[in-house]
Amino acid sequence: MKNKSIWKIDDVNPEVSLQQDINVDVAIIGGGLAGIMTAYHLRNCSKKIVLLEKDTVGSGLSSSTTGKLTYLQNQMYPNIAKSRSKEEAKLYFESQKEALKLAKSIILKHNINCNLTPVASYLFASVDNKELKEEKSFLKEVQCPFEECKELPISFPCKEAIFVHDTYCFHPVKFIQEIKKLVMNSSIQIYENTRVTALDQENEDYLIFTENHKVKAKQVIITSHYPFFVIPKLLPLQLKLEKSYLLEAKKENEPNFLAISTDAPNYTFRIDDEHFVFGGYSHNLASKLDYQKQKDEMMNTFKRHFNNEIRYVWSAHDITSKDHIPLIGPLNNNHPNLLIATAFHKWGMTNSFIASKILSDYILEKENRYSTLFSPTRKPTFKGTMDATMNDMVIGGRYLQTKMKEQQPFYKNIHFELHDDEEIAVYTDENGKEHKIVYRCPHLKSGLIFDESEKIWICPAHGSKFDIDGNLLEGPSTCDITYKK
Ligand SMILES: Cc1cc2nc3c(=O)[nH]c(=O)nc-3n(C[C@H](O)[C@H](O)[C@H](O)COP(=O)(O)OP(=O)(O)OC[C@H]3O[C@@H](n4cnc5c(N)ncnc54)[C@H](O)[C@@H]3O)c2cc1C
Repeated sequence: MKNKSIWKIDDVNPEVSLQQDINVDVAIIGGGLAGIMTAYHLRNCSKKIVLLEKDTVGSGLSSSTTGKLTYLQNQMYPNIAKSRSKEEAKLYFESQKEALKLAKSIILKHNINCNLTPVASYLFASVDNKELKEEKSFLKEVQCPFEECKELPISFPCKEAIFVHDTYCFHPVKFIQEIKKLVMNSSIQIYENTRVTALDQENEDYLIFTENHKVKAKQVIITSHYPFFVIPKLLPLQLKLEKSYLLEAKKENEPNFLAISTDAPNYTFRIDDEHFVFGGYSHNLASKLDYQKQKDEMMNTFKRHFNNEIRYVWSAHDITSKDHIPLIGPLNNNHPNLLIATAFHKWGMTNSFIASKILSDYILEKENRYSTLFSPTRKPTFKGTMDATMNDMVIGGRYLQTKMKEQQPFYKNIHFELHDDEEIAVYTDENGKEHKIVYRCPHLKSGLIFDESEKIWICPAHGSKFDIDGNLLEGPSTCDITYKK
């Protein structure tokens, strides 16, 4: 069994990294699904555009997803109706339907081989619950046809379910790789292994600093999953992180379908022609720190119900916003040329398609009917503000807990040292080799948690990840924490 995502492609030959200072019209930072699709829509325009990617395009969260393309999303519509309004929930629903059409039309237009498979999507509950009722009443209101049933296509606890037919799954990384080729055939330059470390302003322009060079850009699009920059510094107070666990097992004779449950712990299924993907167990990243325990529970549940051989196991976190709607567009009125796309709420396959259209339309000065709905400048709601305050308190509690290091179970095989007033964490591996890191996350100085199974350090506050020797894997941190002495 491998501790990595089934979709990751290891032997990608990276494109060149940035070798000199440059001036451009538009810089896209981050080549996940959102970034590469934005580049795709801009590929035929006359602006000078670059995409800067710290690793290789498609190596971020978009390679650790379940890869469902569905509009039957776990309670998103009732939640948006409650946090904002029914009208906004309806518009969000339309955006997701449009995202599916867009994805399908692009795949067909370019004949992209990414295992696009039409599959029914289920939303199910294993006990009576009001969430499913709310979803049904929303779907009826928007006249979206759905069917009802009492069981899933496979044997798994289910009291009640609804399902729709016109949804899909695909291989996200194969898709991204093909889109990358189309972008590379245009005048857009992609620089890989080019990590952005800071962002500054110079008059009307932005200065983007990479490790060795700088890019001057008139407009900047940040599609780095968690916006890494700190202009202004308030974004960390608006975003929440949710971690989930997935496994891929050998497909036997099960029928193809997608499903997600409304219960806690939540379950997700994706069964296609080749893969049986199962998981869920989502939680606020900061609320449960024994990540291995969640992973074990997920695997035990799977083994209790199915005999299929488990081949891959992984975990990942996505970002959520206070009111459940992603943040897409210009950051605020002071920064009309600094655009972000984040907080996809674990529905970033569809939302990346929508984000890429909103962002590219903005750059091309075209109207987009969804830009107001997703605007990062929208007013916060009371409930959202209360939720965010609670989240900040949980994170604050974790911060204190990571200061009382010696008593914590998640520091197995780890001891701490103080070198010149710097806190150093030392992990001793199974061969007795010591791996030292600087213990504080460079982003906002939170303490770090060690995930023994994946052998990575994680910041429970904002999700930065580092390998065993402190090399940065995922932001918002832009620096390594390797201990150099
Ligand atoms: C467990 C799980 C399952 C999911 N399943 C689904 C699903 O079935 N359907 C669905 O719709 N959504 C799903 N999602 C959500 C979806 O996968 C994400 O929302 C989406 O992949 C995010 O895409 P992105 O382009 O924003 O981020 P990413 O794919 O992470 O891309 C960001 C890119 O930016 C780069 N980058 C970061 N920092 C820098 C820097 N400083 N300089 C340069 N480059 C940088 C990264 O290397 C990365 O390549 C799931 C999420 C999780 C956690």
